[in-house]
Amino acid sequence: MINNAADPKVLIFTGTNKMWATVASIDAHFLDGVLKDQKWIQDTGGWKGKCPLCHSSHKRKKQTTSYLPAYITPRQQGYVFHCCSCGSTLTTFKLLEVACGKDTAQTYAERRWQAGKLCGAGWNCPLPEIVKRDLEIEKQKRRIAYRNAEQERKLANYRNKYG
Ligand SMILES: [Zn+2]
Repeated sequence: MINNAADPKVLIFTGTNKMWATVASIDAHFLDGVLKDQKWIQDTGGWKGKCPLCHSSHKRKKQTTSYLPAYITPRQQGYVFHCCSCGSTLTTFKLLEVACGKDTAQTYAERRWQAGKLCGAGWNCPLPEIVKRDLEIEKQKRRIAYRNAEQERKLANYRNKYG
């Protein structure tokens, strides 16, 4: 992903950075149709549509001003959702979680993990629950192995001294 020379605010994904190109293609796949009346915007390389969070809520009905659209725009850390009506700003993961449910968001995170561990610390997408659980089990195994090794060592020391 590099800065678009014509407009530094607009970030475009390019094939030169394979990692971000992968993230962008996974994001784009899951983001398709998340907004109501979703339309592709050529200029930003993102989408415009109706916010799935506030469009049908009471807040919307009470609004006297005209309806403002929501945007999904590519940024340095991946696609970012922003609604000009309710002011929400969300990452792809959070948007999927609130608009499509926890399962979809988890499937999305799993896809990013499978594509080369493109989630977790330092990423805009958390580790999927299934991976978190596996890592926790691994950590526990290492803890037990370490404790056992420590006990072995103490026992050997004891034997050397008193045995
Ligand atoms: Zn909104």
